[in-house]
Amino acid sequence: MFDLHIHSMYSDGEGSIETIARKAKERNLEVIAIADHSSEHPLGLDRRKAKRRKSEIVPSQDKYGIRILDAVECGIDAEGNITMPEHEFELVIASIHECLPAEEYCKRIIRCVKNCEFNVLGHYRSSIFNTYDEPCELDLEVLDVLRENEIALEFNTAHRAPPPEILDLLGKEAKKLVYSVGSDSHSVSRVGDVKWAFETLNSKLGRWKKLIEKLDV
Ligand SMILES: [Zn+2]
Ligand SMILES: [Zn+2]
Repeated sequence: MFDLHIHSMYSDGEGSIETIARKAKERNLEVIAIADHSSEHPLGLDRRKAKRRKSEIVPSQDKYGIRILDAVECGIDAEGNITMPEHEFELVIASIHECLPAEEYCKRIIRCVKNCEFNVLGHYRSSIFNTYDEPCELDLEVLDVLRENEIALEFNTAHRAPPPEILDLLGKEAKKLVYSVGSDSHSVSRVGDVKWAFETLNSKLGRWKKLIEKLDV
């Protein structure tokens, strides 16, 4: 099991790296990603915080014998860009944190894929951030550019996103996409809360391509 979207006290989460790692070990997770918000967020990472966080990730990883990815979650701005502090992250999640009409929401993501390098599209079409009603033509375009660029589509338990029926747009092609799974936990008690995501992907796809199989972890 893995959980590739966890916030720590280095942004707006509550847990220290050590307490998150301990909880992850308790829950039998093999790989986790600490993905704090990036520099556009008021509590997000800057270069100094990213460096300090990394210095805590390494010993916790050794102590608990689990792989902890040094990750970041970037917001996508109106031009379709993301911003990050100067730091070598192992995993970059890009997500929209604004309420937008579906068309603008999807077009912004397509621009971002063209403009920027990232690994995971976070909580796609979360009902918290856009007026999701039903799948539209542009969803198909988004899923296509993700596949072409080998960007993983995240199944996010906190947001219950994406709406699983989005995969029906792709039919059998859905198996060609790569998927990530994240709890988006901001509290230690929710670390590893990924059941909905795993169950949904298993029931929709049977076997599915997992991002951790693609990463060098
Ligand atoms: Zn987010
Ligand atoms: Zn998040």
